[in-house]
Amino acid sequence: MPRPFHLALLLSLALPLSAQQSYPTDWSPTLASRPDIKAALAIIEHTYPKHVDEWIRLTQMPSPSHHENVRAAYIRQQLEAAGLTVTTDSIGNVAGRRKGTFTGPTIVIASHMDIVQPMGVDLTVKHSGDTLRAPGVFDNTASIANVLAVVRAMAEARVKSNANFVFLFTAQEEIGLRGMDWWLDHNPRPDMLIASDGGLGPIAYGALGIYWTKYTFSSEGSHTVTSRGKPTPVKALADAIDHIYQLKTEPLPEGAVLNVGQVHGGTIYNGIPQDLYFTMDLRGQNPVLIDSLDRAIDKIAAAAAKRENVQYRKETVLRNTAGGTEAMLAGARRNPIVQTAIDIHHYLGIDIGAPGKEAVAAGTTDANMGVVRGIPSIAIGRAIGGNQHTLAEWADGKSALPATKMVLLLVMSLGENKLQPAGIVP
Ligand SMILES: [Zn+2]
Repeated sequence: MPRPFHLALLLSLALPLSAQQSYPTDWSPTLASRPDIKAALAIIEHTYPKHVDEWIRLTQMPSPSHHENVRAAYIRQQLEAAGLTVTTDSIGNVAGRRKGTFTGPTIVIASHMDIVQPMGVDLTVKHSGDTLRAPGVFDNTASIANVLAVVRAMAEARVKSNANFVFLFTAQEEIGLRGMDWWLDHNPRPDMLIASDGGLGPIAYGALGIYWTKYTFSSEGSHTVTSRGKPTPVKALADAIDHIYQLKTEPLPEGAVLNVGQVHGGTIYNGIPQDLYFTMDLRGQNPVLIDSLDRAIDKIAAAAAKRENVQYRKETVLRNTAGGTEAMLAGARRNPIVQTAIDIHHYLGIDIGAPGKEAVAAGTTDANMGVVRGIPSIAIGRAIGGNQHTLAEWADGKSALPATKMVLLLVMSLGENKLQPAGIVP
């Protein structure tokens, strides 16, 4: 049948590359008209004023990393009231489990509880029109409120699910995704992981690698008067930093970025300091590239110490593995979890980017920990907002409503379509 073949070939040549891609999806709009799902969506809609009240209450609970306990206790209470089986683990994560009817996949929906502001910062939410302003109101308190609304709507509408859901509220996300790392190390491997974190926008299915390292230079020190010609860690440190910034890298997303965030040392004017250090924040999606940059930086620092004849020490503070470039993650992009999320955003009229740009092989959320373990994982947005990690953080109240409906439709779509009734082995 040569004709159809040639026709197809011609068509494929005429279309731009992005339009040729078609990815598998688990979304079907009929799910939204299933009576229990329809009821749950209606509950999300009409309880929205309460949802916003709770969002404000949660935002006003202080929750720096390591001190998530106030929010954790509140969340635990809410999950138990909705009939979930709740556990709090030793790192501070709260997990609410909702068992499915059949042996379906286990899907984790994660929201981090911690904020970057320390204790004592004024967290009072200021309302102007639909805009809510307060530190942490957007990142990531909006997600917690959205997910709690979904949990309650599912309970009230008696939503039947085949999948097992774990509504996970993580600790210590802001200091290196530690709560999620710990949770995945200490629990059975889930089938899918969805992090609700970030503004509404493209679906993130990758993982930005983040390496934090501390480089220390030390010497015996000396009074200034007797310092002439003596080794000084100041020169070694300056020499190292100068050479590090000469390293050539392509920019993100496929290249890397490095930044010296801290330079510390010395206590007096009149002497050579004994200890100095600088810190490095190195980021990139390509694990091969950032590993090679990490080694290059190490070599530069060691050589600078040797030239100046001072001691040198490297301390590894954080190693969050990179997920890979777009080409490396082609398989992850084809997993239905990505296209299902895109389709549901479109169904709800949520703008997530131009065609072909609705998904990115990037990410800096709890989902990273799934990506690097090979678990199908994505990060989805929670609302429209901005200025995160500053005192001027804000969120658009209205935008959280479609984002909440999206969470419900997404987890149900992913959970319903690949199930075997209990006891039946395919
Ligand atoms: Zn966040």
